[in-house]
Amino acid sequence: MKSKTDKLKLAIELVPSTSWYDNLRKYISKKDWDKIRKRTYVEYGHRCGICGAEGRLNCHEIWEYDDKKHIQKLIGFIALCDMCHHVKHIGLAGILSSEGKLDYEKVVEHFMEVNNCDKRIFEKHRERAFDEWRERSQHEWHVDLGEYKDMIKSASKKG
Ligand SMILES: [Zn+2]
Repeated sequence: MKSKTDKLKLAIELVPSTSWYDNLRKYISKKDWDKIRKRTYVEYGHRCGICGAEGRLNCHEIWEYDDKKHIQKLIGFIALCDMCHHVKHIGLAGILSSEGKLDYEKVVEHFMEVNNCDKRIFEKHRERAFDEWRERSQHEWHVDLGEYKDMIKSASKKG
């Protein structure tokens, strides 16, 4: 049976530490990245794809994890407001907050507001997300850029 946290509109997504630096931006030019970003913002009507907020947006990579084969696949992008983006990367939000650059409680409040839940649900969800992250971080992941593969300049360099 699925628990309540599986249905959250705004969920935490932690990228395994073993593939932290393997994101798409490392492989493509700034020009191509800007193209993807702008296309994503247009696609989402220049609003946050989760809470609908306007203003500054972030282009967030959506990954799918195969926990058996350890393949991390890029399946698309979503436009996110700063707050939703901080929730996605709650580990980083914690670091920013410890450096006095972000109010962590505001991020938690945003989570509770968007998901219409209390702090208990947040804590439970965060624990689960970190458990999953710890497990995934024990493995080396094969990063599959899916349909975005063609954008990589060095794609012709095979074996
Ligand atoms: Zn948002």
